[in-house]
Amino acid sequence: MLTSVALILITFASTATSCSRSSWITHSRSCLGPPQVWEARPSPGKGIGVYASRAIEPGDIILSEPAMIQLTPPEIRDGVAYPLSDIHTLLRSSFDGLSPEDKGAVMSLHAHMTSVDNANDTLMAIIRSNAYITGNSLGLFPKGARINHSCRPNTSQYWDSQLGRRVVYANRRIEEGEEIFATYIPLLHSHEARQRRLDQYGFKCTCDACALERDARHASDQRRQDLQKAFAAFESQLTLSVPKSAIGKRKALKNAKASAQLVEQLEEEGLADYYVKAYHVAAIAHARIEDWKPATLWANKGFETSLLADPKARSTGARELQALTNHLIIKWNDQLWEEANRKG
Ligand SMILES: [Zn+2]
Repeated sequence: MLTSVALILITFASTATSCSRSSWITHSRSCLGPPQVWEARPSPGKGIGVYASRAIEPGDIILSEPAMIQLTPPEIRDGVAYPLSDIHTLLRSSFDGLSPEDKGAVMSLHAHMTSVDNANDTLMAIIRSNAYITGNSLGLFPKGARINHSCRPNTSQYWDSQLGRRVVYANRRIEEGEEIFATYIPLLHSHEARQRRLDQYGFKCTCDACALERDARHASDQRRQDLQKAFAAFESQLTLSVPKSAIGKRKALKNAKASAQLVEQLEEEGLADYYVKAYHVAAIAHARIEDWKPATLWANKGFETSLLADPKARSTGARELQALTNHLIIKWNDQLWEEANRKG
């Protein structure tokens, strides 16, 4: 019975790049699905927001957008940052090459002026307020820039360097009419720290996590800070070697339990961008106590989740998780055979 479970996982791990699973697995034309699942309209207190025009399933692509402006700053030499004037020249020349319609789309974006901005340089403020890092460049994506921030976002995003597109996908089910949110900042920080970070965009966040009652918000803050610490603590233990000493084994057992809690807390906070990392940690932590079944299931879940942001498993991280899943399946199968032979 369990052997067949392992077999299903093997099949999955080796065929994950197939188009047949669902529309988000590949970006070939035949697999893209409906072209637009969102609409932009006024969002109370936030100007414009982006809303789901139909129910969106986890993994469904919401936006796949090329950069309207892409800036590749010159390399930093001898630790000296490139002059701001160079960036400005690059930006102005990219902007000047746009059609009047595209120029209008860029200039209609939110520009939050800070003390570092020149009051006459709205274009630079628009870039600073809306641009995303795309590999070694900065990209401006006017459609995606309409998506408001939440500290508990229902989408994640990645840069597809082969397609030259920023892809935004649902990281959980989004109901028709629900507002679509992304995050502008790292999220494993307290409410206060997040608000300080968001000052650069010129707004106070009132998302589900920030609008919690005082006690619930403190609990949420505590979870996020604990998660940050837990990830840092696990960083040095991402090895498959099984401890030999009694002390080492006890510690590994404690860590395996802690890793399962890490996953639970993340899921409770709804912080999908960190799921792959947490599933990876849980897989390794259970492998270190030779508990192969949960180790395999965590690794497979990590691999499956990593495909949302890397549908063709091209990244080192996705390939490592695929290899880890297959390695753990073998260990789990060996264990099942040994148990069967002992009984037989
Ligand atoms: Zn918030």
